[in-house]
Amino acid sequence: MRITVLAGGIGGARFTRGLLHHLRTAPIESHVTVIGNTGDDIRLFGLQICPDLDTVMYTLGGGISEERGWGREDETFAIKEELAAYGVQPDWFGLGDRDTATHLVRSQMLAAGYPLSAVTAALCDRWQPGVELLPMSDDRVETHVVVDGDEPGTRKAIHFQEWWVRHRAGIPAHDFVLVGRDDARPAPGVLEAISGADVVLLPPSNPVVSVGTILQVPGVRDAVRTTAAPVVGVSPIVGGAPVRGMADACLTAIGVKTSAAAVALHYGARTADGLLDGWLVHDESDADAVDELAAAGIETRAVPLLMTDLAATAAIAAAALHLAESVRR
Ligand code: GDP
Ligand code: CA
Repeated sequence: MRITVLAGGIGGARFTRGLLHHLRTAPIESHVTVIGNTGDDIRLFGLQICPDLDTVMYTLGGGISEERGWGREDETFAIKEELAAYGVQPDWFGLGDRDTATHLVRSQMLAAGYPLSAVTAALCDRWQPGVELLPMSDDRVETHVVVDGDEPGTRKAIHFQEWWVRHRAGIPAHDFVLVGRDDARPAPGVLEAISGADVVLLPPSNPVVSVGTILQVPGVRDAVRTTAAPVVGVSPIVGGAPVRGMADACLTAIGVKTSAAAVALHYGARTADGLLDGWLVHDESDADAVDELAAAGIETRAVPLLMTDLAATAAIAAAALHLAESVRR
C-alpha cells in the first residue's frame, strides 16, 4: 500500500509515527511518503532551518524531545546563550546545540549546491525515519504574516516564526503570504507520490500554515484533487479548539471558524471541487458534525482523536485507512 501524508510538524509527525506502528503491527506491507511543509523554514545566523522537516525526522527517528514536541532530546542551549551574550538578534528562536549540527550539515550541503530534497535524504540516512521524507519544494518559500504596521492604518509582513514563536500568535494576523510561491516547483517525487498513491492522508496538522502551505505549491492542490486515491483527513480541532498550539489564530485570520466541521468544509469535498473524500472528528465532542459533513459530500466518522500514546495514535491511523477503504471509488 502506497500511503502519502502531507505533514506539518508535531501533529503530522506524531500521526505518522502512529501510522507506522499500525502498519507494522497489522502488518500491512507499505511504503509511506511524507511531504513536509517548508513554509516555516527560516535562515538565521547563516543557517537554513527547516523546523517541520526536522520534527518529522526526529520524531520518526527517535531523537525528538517528547516534552517539547520539537527539537532534540537531551538538548542544551549554549550556542543560544553565547549569541545572546553578543546581543545579536533574533534572541527568541529555540536554537539547540544538538539541533544546530543538523542545521550546519544542511546549510553546508545547500551551499555546495545540493537541493533540499537531497539534503533531507542525506540527513534521513542517519535517522532512518521509516518513511520517504520529501520537502514540498526544493525552492525557497517562506510563510510571512501580515500584521498591523507601526504607524496607525499601515500593515507589514513578518516572518511566520516571528509571529508564532516570538509573539505566540498573539498579535492579530490579517493574512498569510507564501513568499516565493509563484516561482516554486514541487520537489522531485512530490506530485508522483500524490498521483501514484493508494491512499492520501491529511494528518491533524495545522490546516492553514502546514497543510494549507503545502497545498499552495503550484500543482499540489490539483494533484490531490485528481488522484485516484481516496483522500482522508484527521481533524486537528477537537471541541472547538486546537489540541495544541494556536491554529485557532490562523483559522480566524483566513475567516474559518475553529471547529472540526468548518475545517473539513474549508478543505471541501472532492465531489464539489475540494480535496476530501473522508474526515475523522473526535467522538466525544464533535460527533454532531458527521451528518452535516455527509450532506456536504464528506464521509465522516467520529472516533477518539487524541494522540495520547502510540496505541491511541495507531488506532486513529487505522480508522483513517479504514475510512479510505470505504470511500474508495
Ligand atoms: P506544527 O507544524 O508543529 O505546528 O505541527 P502540525 O501543523 O503538524 O500540527 C499542529 C496541529 O496538531 C495543531 O493544530 C493541533 O491541534 C494538532 N494536534 C496536536 N496534537 C493532537 C492530537 O492529539 N489530536 C489531534 N486531533 N490533533 C492534534
Ligand atoms: Ca510548523
